[in-house]
Amino acid sequence: MADCIFCKIAAGEIPSQKVYEDETVIAFKDLSPKAPVHVLIVPKKHIQSVAHFAEEDKELAAHIFVDVVPKLAADLNVADGGFRVVMNTGDDGGQTVNHLHVHLLGGRKMTWPPG
Ligand code: 5GP
Ligand code: ZN
Repeated sequence: MADCIFCKIAAGEIPSQKVYEDETVIAFKDLSPKAPVHVLIVPKKHIQSVAHFAEEDKELAAHIFVDVVPKLAADLNVADGGFRVVMNTGDDGGQTVNHLHVHLLGGRKMTWPPG
């Protein structure tokens, strides 16, 4: 999608610190990390948010959560200690980039509730 920063990162048009890539997903370090480990897992296909997943995206959604999240948590050494996955959704949800992304945060003790 034109003018979408995560589409541009997925297309390699904007540089990122990539930690993972496959046919459908890319993951890279957050520009403004909120924890020692803070990566964003992003589908290459432009989907606005988790509220915009379609029937045809089931395999992609499962791939992100069944394959990519646990693999990255292990690779980034937070699987054992614990980590947090976050999907800010829409304005009240605090979403600032309107291309679906999963935050994977770890490496410190998280607090609850989030702000
Ligand atoms: P949201 O607030 O939409 O859930 O999260 C967007 C995240 O994207 C923020 O944590 C922000 O730091 C990150 N971000 C925004 N622009 C860029 C960018 O150009 N590169 C990278 N690596 N992260 C970005
Ligand atoms: Zn996009």
